[in-house]
Amino acid sequence: MQISIITLFPKMFEPLISASILDKARESKKLEVNLINLRDFGLGSHKQVDDRVYGGGVGMILRVEPIDKAIQHAKSKVKGIKSKVLLLTPQGKTLRQETVKKLAKENHLILICGKYEGVDERVRKLVDAELSIGDYVLSGGEVAAMVVLDAVSRLIPGVLDKEATEYESFSQGSLEPPQYTRPEIYKNMKVPKVLLSGNHKEIEKWRREQALKKTKKQRPDLLKN
Ligand code: SAH
Repeated sequence: MQISIITLFPKMFEPLISASILDKARESKKLEVNLINLRDFGLGSHKQVDDRVYGGGVGMILRVEPIDKAIQHAKSKVKGIKSKVLLLTPQGKTLRQETVKKLAKENHLILICGKYEGVDERVRKLVDAELSIGDYVLSGGEVAAMVVLDAVSRLIPGVLDKEATEYESFSQGSLEPPQYTRPEIYKNMKVPKVLLSGNHKEIEKWRREQALKKTKKQRPDLLKN
């Protein structure tokens, strides 16, 4: 899978893509990340990418032409592969694990990071979907793009063990059941006996019950869905 990221701050991504699972995915050639500097597509000798808002108002927004050119560039780099273009914006559909799963099946994602007060409205016509990572406003799309990058890449087939992602939170419509590791007792908090019993049937049953109980308590909205 290829993920292209259009941003004014490509350097922000470097520590993330050279660490942990993302690095593993890249090493095994399952993921290729292309960082595209929006500034390279800026206008004039100053490589201008932003401008004042028509009609008045505070701050600057990103112009449409550099973003359009950057998208074309990202597409031209992967000829013959279908691309899905996503704009990170608080106005988009909130990202959920279901969407992450779908995105992990794509061949090429192009993520556009906004900045300042956002982007020219016409950018919305150039993209396939708008994604938000939650109902709050960030100062730029980079952190949101990193969230998408991280969540999607761990679901690319072969990056993690299938089991690790099959039973985790949200995948079965509930949260993951409680998990423990050594020691058996810590400050008088004990690991539930059933988990030490070796009885796989009982353990499975306990896990299902606990997942449901936890979801009811912490995220009852998931059960309604
Ligand atoms: N003025 C805009 C917000 C601009 S925030 C508005 O009211 O809608 C600047 C940039 O940060 C956005 O263009 C977007 O790319 C990114 N951003 C901010 N919050 C985000 C969120 N919750 N999800 C995804 N991207 C976000």
